[in-house]
Amino acid sequence: MPPENDTICAVSSPTGEGGIGIIRMSGPSSRAVLRALFRPRKRVRSFASHRLYLGFIFDPATRADVDEVFAVFMDPPRTYTREEMAEVYSHGGPASQKAILDLMTGLGARLAEPGEFTRRAFESGRIDLAQAESVLDIIQSESEDELRCALSHVKGALSERVNGVKGAITSLLAEVEAEIDFPEEELESDLSGRRERIEAVRLDLESPIASYDEGRALKAGVDVLIVGRTNVGKSSLLNALARRERAIVTPLPGTTRDLVEDTVRIKGVKFVLTDTAGLGRAADAIEKEGMERVMRRIPEADIVLWVVDSSQPYGEADEDVYTAIREKTTIAVLNKADLPERIEADRMDSKGVRMVVHTSALTGSGLDALRAGLYEVFTDRGHRGAALLVTNVRHRDALVKADEALARACLRLGEGPGGGAEFLAFELRDALASLGAITGETATEEVLAEIFSRFCIGK
Ligand code: GDP
Repeated sequence: MPPENDTICAVSSPTGEGGIGIIRMSGPSSRAVLRALFRPRKRVRSFASHRLYLGFIFDPATRADVDEVFAVFMDPPRTYTREEMAEVYSHGGPASQKAILDLMTGLGARLAEPGEFTRRAFESGRIDLAQAESVLDIIQSESEDELRCALSHVKGALSERVNGVKGAITSLLAEVEAEIDFPEEELESDLSGRRERIEAVRLDLESPIASYDEGRALKAGVDVLIVGRTNVGKSSLLNALARRERAIVTPLPGTTRDLVEDTVRIKGVKFVLTDTAGLGRAADAIEKEGMERVMRRIPEADIVLWVVDSSQPYGEADEDVYTAIREKTTIAVLNKADLPERIEADRMDSKGVRMVVHTSALTGSGLDALRAGLYEVFTDRGHRGAALLVTNVRHRDALVKADEALARACLRLGEGPGGGAEFLAFELRDALASLGAITGETATEEVLAEIFSRFCIGK
């Protein structure tokens, strides 16, 4: 049994002025501390749990009122942390909140560490680690899709899948361990049956692992790199798509020497567009460094926008750019469509790009088609609509590790002493440990500390 926790307190609403400010406490003296500071407007014999009372917070030393508030006492276990909790809804001013917090600490409560309330919810077993992490995802969600996904994780969508898989592995492990413990029983191990069971588990892991690309795109955005030789209109295109002056546009070649980023939302999906230095013959060392940066950045991109000046014939410099990006998922953007076309547009079709779009960053023509194209290429990559989205790299890595252990188990099924039972048990335990890291049973203190330190104080 862990030692009994102390009582913690924190302001849970954002700092600054607000209509209301929320101060919460968790721990065994929560009720007593608030009881000593709170004077209800109407006399009550005892405060019922989970009910709001209007009244005043006052300083017990001077009897002076500090603020008019709502107070709520919450008995365990029906609380966020499963501990005794109390909350105060005061006016959201810094002076009021600081005064109330000071009174609480004066009566023995301690200021909470970042994420400590959620950590207590995890440690009391009310939520598992994946759910606790998703609480932070809810707070940080910027779009409806992100929010929906984070909420489904808080409700346990990922944990349920992981626990289902763990259950299947555990029952197989129990059989295998029985064989190890009672070799004389000559339990007939059905190798092909086992292989099927392990493969079935791996199949359950497949779609969550595969969903990570989409999950990451949902949270971090689809990584779109704008490349092309200098002066074809890359910066202008970024500005036009982002609808503001972000990148510096000048008629001089080579003005974008560093990487410039902007975000656009297309049908709810976040695309992070990065403008790059023009590829081509570098005039000086800075330009050369800029180009090398682009080359290093290309492998990371989800989608490349390859911008070509359609008012000029396709040249060697364009071909050089193409060579650098030919392996990528690419949209060819034939820009400057407002000028007479001199490029052989047909040639672009033969390049194996995903689509060719004619645009004018100057007049805005073709930009809607380009936005639609980005969305289409994104969805074509098998994205959208996965029932369970893994958005967290820690979860993805743990799923992959579990899957790898199961793959090793399959590969060597039947090998080794005892018909491979020892070896199989080892790999199954390894898979279970990886899955346990997601839900938290096998997470180390370092991992826990790192995860909860990302929370704000008061959560
Ligand atoms: P970058 O070097 O590829 O980033 O190109 P910029 O965006 O800096 O544009 C280079 C020049 O081309 C500027 O003078 C822009 O005004 C011009 N430009 C960009 N897009 C278009 C376009 O669609 N039509 C025309 N006529 N000019 C454009």
